[in-house]
Amino acid sequence: NKQVILNNYVSGFPKESDMSLTSNTIELKVPLDSNGVLVKNLYLSCDPYMRPRMKKLEGSYVESFKPGSPISGYGVAKVLDSGHPGFKKGDLVWGMTGWEEYTLIETPQSLLSLFKIQHTDVPLSYYTGILGMPGMTAYAGFYEVCSPKRGEYVFISAASGAVGQLVGQFAKLLGCYVVGSAGSKDKVDLLKNKFGFDEAFNYKEEEDLNAALKRYFPEGIDIYFENVGGKMLDAVLLNMRLRGRIAACGMISQYNLDEPEGVYNLMTLIPKRIRMDGFLVFDYYHLYPKYLEMIIPHIKEGKIVYVEDTTEGLESAPSALIGLFFGRNVGKQVVAVARE
Ligand code: NDP
Repeated sequence: NKQVILNNYVSGFPKESDMSLTSNTIELKVPLDSNGVLVKNLYLSCDPYMRPRMKKLEGSYVESFKPGSPISGYGVAKVLDSGHPGFKKGDLVWGMTGWEEYTLIETPQSLLSLFKIQHTDVPLSYYTGILGMPGMTAYAGFYEVCSPKRGEYVFISAASGAVGQLVGQFAKLLGCYVVGSAGSKDKVDLLKNKFGFDEAFNYKEEEDLNAALKRYFPEGIDIYFENVGGKMLDAVLLNMRLRGRIAACGMISQYNLDEPEGVYNLMTLIPKRIRMDGFLVFDYYHLYPKYLEMIIPHIKEGKIVYVEDTTEGLESAPSALIGLFFGRNVGKQVVAVARE
């Protein structure tokens, strides 16, 4: 059983040498007294929240990875053996699994931590993205947290990524004016030509983010879907409209810093009566069936498209994960470990 393990806690930007490929021997059966589920991993998901898990965390909503143990994360897998009444051999599932060929998922707490895949007439890898955690993040973050209305001015950072590309498309479907920022020309083209954003810009080429935002939002921003934090957040705060909303989804620009950057313009929240809400996707998984009902027809009718960036083989996983923090991924970063 090939595995990717974390060697030790990481500081600064993660490196490939922080992880190793090893292997162990396991029995491909669930132990008799266990109600776990033994799976063969097919696709693994690389997600930004995995970076904080590479350091020693206390009192966080997620656990640190254990140095010397396989990395854990979202994935799509096939059940080989089950001691759990909710799953049987042959089921396809998505949820928390390990960065290895086979994983014994111990006691799935509930059907909300390991989901049985019902729709198989869409690409299975989508369950790491549009039909999995990032999809739910975009859905809950936009519809539940942002309180969006037709015609509003929406700005999304890290807009071409797993979550951002969907938020932009949801906002367009609702009839909003949508602008995204991303870190390369190719990504900007994708935003405008594939995802239908009204405008997009490469934040790395803008000397003055405040001026860039004023160019695209002369009347200001109603909704900011925050994925990056730091300087972008500061510039956005200067451009929000009265009663604007900021959904604090993630702040990836801060994840590799030992000390977070300061944010200086928070005072603008007060006179403009801006609501800024942090949220975690885990609080919204009860909406998953409702989300599927909406999104599956949209995918089939081509109303929503989804771009993935897939690397092949478990051994490619460390570099794929690290790539998120250098913007190497174009779309949702997936690692294909095995075909069914
Ligand atoms: P992406 O697919 O967008 O990948 C990460 C992207 O972030 C990179 O491709 C890069 O794009 C951008 N990026 C990396 N470093 C920086 C930087 N220093 N400054 C600006 N941009 C940077 O990731 P996801 O869509 O999966 O996640 C997006 C955000 O959503 C993250 O912050 C993540 O933590 C958060 N999240 C939050 C959840 C929640 O429950 N609240 C759940 C899931 C995700 P570029 O080339 O454009 O710079």
